[in-house]
Amino acid sequence: MGGEKIGSASGKLIVPCDPIILKMDGDGIGPEIISAALPVIDAAVESAYHGKRRISWKKVQAGKDAERSHGSLFPGSTVSALKEYKFLLKGPLETPVGKGYRSPNVHIRLLLDLYANIRPVKYIPGLDSPLKHPEKVDMVIIRENTDDLYTGIEWPSNSKAANELRKYLKDRLNSNIEKDAGIGIKPIGKAKTERITRLALKYAIDNRRKSVTIMHKGNIMKYTEGAFRDWAYNVAKREFGKKSVTEAELNGKFHGRMPKGKVLINDRIADNMFQQIITRPESYDVILAPNLNGDYISDAAGALIGDIGVLGAANIGDYGGVFEAVHGTAPKYAGKNVANPMGIIKAGELMLLHIGWAEAARSIKKAVEASIGQRKATADIARFIGAKPLGTKEFAGNLVDIIESGKAR
Ligand code: NAP
Repeated sequence: MGGEKIGSASGKLIVPCDPIILKMDGDGIGPEIISAALPVIDAAVESAYHGKRRISWKKVQAGKDAERSHGSLFPGSTVSALKEYKFLLKGPLETPVGKGYRSPNVHIRLLLDLYANIRPVKYIPGLDSPLKHPEKVDMVIIRENTDDLYTGIEWPSNSKAANELRKYLKDRLNSNIEKDAGIGIKPIGKAKTERITRLALKYAIDNRRKSVTIMHKGNIMKYTEGAFRDWAYNVAKREFGKKSVTEAELNGKFHGRMPKGKVLINDRIADNMFQQIITRPESYDVILAPNLNGDYISDAAGALIGDIGVLGAANIGDYGGVFEAVHGTAPKYAGKNVANPMGIIKAGELMLLHIGWAEAARSIKKAVEASIGQRKATADIARFIGAKPLGTKEFAGNLVDIIESGKAR
């Protein structure tokens, strides 16, 4: 295998020419999309750096695959490798609804403290979007990834714990909860809000984005989502005051004219945002959201460009990253060579950008655009554009051909 570990010093990544990056197949369509994606990523690196850089992939297992070979959904060897190497390209993992084990995705994110989930959503010309002007969609959702529903606690209706808690709330805090209710606790912390806000503002400034919109339901959940909004504004004012402008400042001090080189910071109530990203997507750029809101809005935003199957996501922390497709295991397509590997390939693009290999990342972006432009796509896209569908492998093969032919530079 060879390769060296990606290091970190003074908050910056130290990336060797042959970084070791973990790969995980995952469940359902995971193995086939991962094996389609790796040659595309390798071809992009080769085409950009001509042998001077390469990725050393190291396999780790989790989910059904790991259960079969190690008798555990999340074996100790995977935990050790994640702690050691910190960077992973990951296929989707199944999580049962309403019963069974805790999500291995959540486990990985918490293990590496990957507190930001970053999902860029930009229209790719040629996709069949439900919007009249999908070209206006160019958003980046930055979702807090460790708090809120991931640290929340739930007790089932009529359980001993729910009954005790209900009694405590009634006796000590004079608060009533229905007898038959399941109970959940939703924590949103100040330190976690502040660090995700810092990351979002830094991302917006570094990538020359126009605005950061805080998405919350603070009108109803004042001390969790409302506090998220207030803490985020405080960080913007305290730490990014010279580079950001609030909406109030824009309309007062700056008479509605955005000063050059600054990022606008505003906030919107979550339900309103769901209609606004459809009716006027151009008003949204970076969206900063607590965990659950971010989960919902990123799939909704994905639908605007026609297909969430084409989106990748980066889960990052101060040191470490897990890169994956936005979609899940799509079990009905598993093993049929029909699944779209574009989401995981776009995740590879985000991974390359994150480690500073921008030339290789650009190559992937251009190859994907070129393939859609040639009307060469998997069934999920081909069925809407009236093209003959390519299989998973064949679509990835076309991307490799485009990259190797030099058309993706
Ligand atoms: P899903 O796996 O994303 O699949 C929903 C539907 O989306 C599929 O039936 C298919 O729709 C379409 N689709 C998704 N990915 C596709 C691809 N690559 N190519 C073509 N079509 C694709 O969502 P789900 O059914 O809600 O979740 C299934 C499992 O995945 C659950 O256990 C869930 O917990 C897990 N999951 C894991 C992750 C992760 O690991 N990060 C993320 C999300 C969900 P059509 O019927 O329209 O063809």
